[in-house]
Amino acid sequence: MSLIPDNNNHMPAPNAGTGKVYLIGAGPGDPELITVKGLRCLRAADIVLYDRLIGTALLQEARADATLIYVGKGPGCHSMPQDQINATIIHHAQQGQTVVRLKGGDPFVFGRGGEEAEALAEAKIPFEIVPGVTSAIAVPAYAGIPVTHRDHASSITIVTGHEGRSTSPSINWEALAALGGTLVVLMGVKALPNFTQRLINGGMDPSTPAAMIQEGTTEKQHMVTGTLSTIAEVAAQAGLTSPALTIVGAVVNMNTILNWYVNSSYTVGTL
Ligand code: SAH
Repeated sequence: MSLIPDNNNHMPAPNAGTGKVYLIGAGPGDPELITVKGLRCLRAADIVLYDRLIGTALLQEARADATLIYVGKGPGCHSMPQDQINATIIHHAQQGQTVVRLKGGDPFVFGRGGEEAEALAEAKIPFEIVPGVTSAIAVPAYAGIPVTHRDHASSITIVTGHEGRSTSPSINWEALAALGGTLVVLMGVKALPNFTQRLINGGMDPSTPAAMIQEGTTEKQHMVTGTLSTIAEVAAQAGLTSPALTIVGAVVNMNTILNWYVNSSYTVGTL
């Protein structure tokens, strides 16, 4: 049974004229967290350009004759510069092919999906965005941490810990310290000692619960917990590395009762 009616407006273009590009969120790691629409486009693709954090089980969903191109970026190690990624996507679309750009989490939450879509718009290539399950919310969920809760947090703020680019707006950590709610920091392994200190300097209670979760939603999921003042030390001692995110706020304590994933016989899906 098909969950989605075949609809010509939303089906991959036939191989004639300019092809179409699908910017798809692959989800945070567990391959079953891709959307139904994302999976359908992936199965139809001629070309798949994929990132570092894509569950490999997902790639097996591509057609046997599809071309798979790895364009992943690790911290400080980019296999293909962004300009070349954009050019490759555009090139294949101009050949009339259906191109899937498979990105970790949600394509528009960091990870430069916005820039890739801009390049497509500029080149007048038809494209669709297929939103994904972002790690910012799903990784805490697999660790038993609801990012909002009526008793503990009425807001969630998602920020990057990586402030490498001088032209990007800088983060006012001191203002974030005063905001309340839940703070989720992506790309912040290296900067953890720095931004936790800045939050404390900004007036956030050093005893605020904090957690760092590495490779969430996968069988390698590893969480450490502490407080705003201890989490940098705890994470360093445990040797946590990218990809990992930090979550700061009262909701973190809920993991002690809601930590379903590590206590369950759940196995990460294979599709
Ligand atoms: N678009 C992605 C985020 C890209 S930035 C999304 O919506 O999830 C990459 C950062 O996301 C990583 O450095 C890490 O902080 C976080 N991340 C992605 N997958 C993760 C995972 N499985 N576990 C923990 N953090 C993850």
